[in-house]
Amino acid sequence: RKLVGKLTTGCEEFDEMMGGGIESQSITEMYGEFGCGKTQVAHQLAVNVQLPPEQGGLGGSVVIIDTENTFRPERIEQMVRGLSEKHGIEYDPEEFLKNIHVARAYNSNHQILLVESASELANELKDSEMPVRLLIVDSLTAHFRAEYIGRGTLADRQQKLNKHLHDIQRFGDLFNACVIVTNQVMSKPDAFFGDPTKPIGGHILGHTATFRLYIRKSKGDKRIVKLVDSPNLPDGEAIMSITTEGLGD
Ligand code: ATP
Ligand code: MG
Repeated sequence: RKLVGKLTTGCEEFDEMMGGGIESQSITEMYGEFGCGKTQVAHQLAVNVQLPPEQGGLGGSVVIIDTENTFRPERIEQMVRGLSEKHGIEYDPEEFLKNIHVARAYNSNHQILLVESASELANELKDSEMPVRLLIVDSLTAHFRAEYIGRGTLADRQQKLNKHLHDIQRFGDLFNACVIVTNQVMSKPDAFFGDPTKPIGGHILGHTATFRLYIRKSKGDKRIVKLVDSPNLPDGEAIMSITTEGLGD
């Protein structure tokens, strides 16, 4: 087992709550309502992972499996400029964009296959200057939710999702990578989808070394991130901000 890496979020309270940052070789699930900031955190981590360890990064590249077409290169540029200001170092946004490998997933089967493609790429880059140290699946559950509707298909959906998560966990272990998955939930129960106030795949995600983060909106640009049922850390809450410059205190 390789030494677990810790990836900074850019928000001190958040990092502290996580025991220093997002851990490699584990799946970290972010769940919350639409617009709470899951995709924003994902973008920020795609930038931060490229920083050297002295700056809280893992000196690596990232694969994003984008299922909702929400990856925005312009947002990465804003965040890199934000970091340049924060660190007093002139970073080149283009350099950061080069190390972000985005794959668009058109349905759940395609999404599952893309983990294999990600492994192939990670193998190729293993001994390069920028090995893949972060895998993002945003959203983990949207395609599954849309495709498996109705009671009869729930067991099937869960089984597929379970195997998918297993593949994802393996990726994290093999490449000593952080793994971030997102999962939208609604604030009110909705009879159509079962209970969407609880993230789907809930009990399955529980058995691996997994961190679950519940994100909700607060005043202005503030967000509350709650660590739920961690295997090795105390439950806690952190306040972060999302501004043009990116994630902050
Ligand atoms: P969904 O479940 O629909 O995917 P999400 O949790 O991924 O939602 P995000 O897209 O990450 O939500 O968050 C959107 C919010 O992030 C916006 O409402 C806004 O508050 C903030 N945001 C997005 N871009 C910027 C920006 N350039 N500057 C400041 N804040 C921004
Ligand atoms: Mg999103």
